[in-house]
Amino acid sequence: MLIIKNIGSLQKKLDKLRKNNNKISLVPTMGSLHEGHLSLVKKAKRGGRIVVVSIFINPTQFGSNEDFNKYPKNTNKDIRLLKELSVDILFLPNENEILTHKTSQLKQARLTIEKILCGKSRPNYFPGVGKIIIKLFDIIKPNYAYFGEKDYQQYYFIKLLSNKLKFNTKIISGMTIRDAHGLALSSRNLYLNNKEKMIAQNIIKILRKSKRELSKKWKPLLIINKNKNLLIQKGVSKIDYFELRSETFKKDVKKNEKARLFIAVFIGSTRLIDNIKVN
Ligand code: AMP
Repeated sequence: MLIIKNIGSLQKKLDKLRKNNNKISLVPTMGSLHEGHLSLVKKAKRGGRIVVVSIFINPTQFGSNEDFNKYPKNTNKDIRLLKELSVDILFLPNENEILTHKTSQLKQARLTIEKILCGKSRPNYFPGVGKIIIKLFDIIKPNYAYFGEKDYQQYYFIKLLSNKLKFNTKIISGMTIRDAHGLALSSRNLYLNNKEKMIAQNIIKILRKSKRELSKKWKPLLIINKNKNLLIQKGVSKIDYFELRSETFKKDVKKNEKARLFIAVFIGSTRLIDNIKVN
């Protein structure tokens, strides 16, 4: 596995690979890799193309009161895990170089999804993600890029963004990977103590319970409100949002329409998100 930190060296290497008819797959991450990230890398490897993984803790997607300064960093372990999966290139950009790197005059499009759910409670999130993904796509020009359904809003946002800005990159999703108790793997799970981990297991339980109830009786607001209360009784500190949305994020969802339940909660000071498919 080549470890490249410099944008120019990466582009030189990729140009050479492309000249030999290689296609490029990109898996962008913020590191502290777990099986969720690795499942995307494995999926990318199965595609049979050159796989580039990037690790960059993107400061621009965090709010000033959020966890940028304590976000976990385990680069040596990440390198070992990626080598084991025979990743071709690990891109570890230098913060200053990537933040000041000018893209080919691409302006970020403003998209409706930036105003709802995570976009509403974390106003820096989508603009910050967009800023760095545009740079990575512009630098790497991947033919394929992989994103997890765990962050379904991000996956959808990048699909829209990529279309709008006419990138030649196919956006592929990977299913959410969970631990034995159903808790969606997340680098932020490292913040949880044992008691908080037990509380966090209720997120998927309540999502699945809501889904079962919806399949019997299509009363989304009623069911969600009841289950919000249940989550608080189970020890969740605060519910940021818990909503049913169509897969294109429409609010009014008809029975049998493709939809997902989206949730963000605080357990202590840790904010966790999850979602499941309903129809
Ligand atoms: P992050 O490092 O949190 O920015 O995540 C990098 C990529 O891994 C994103 O596309 C995430 O959606 C994906 N990812 C994170 N956790 C999971 C998970 N539990 N299952 C599947 N994909 C995940």
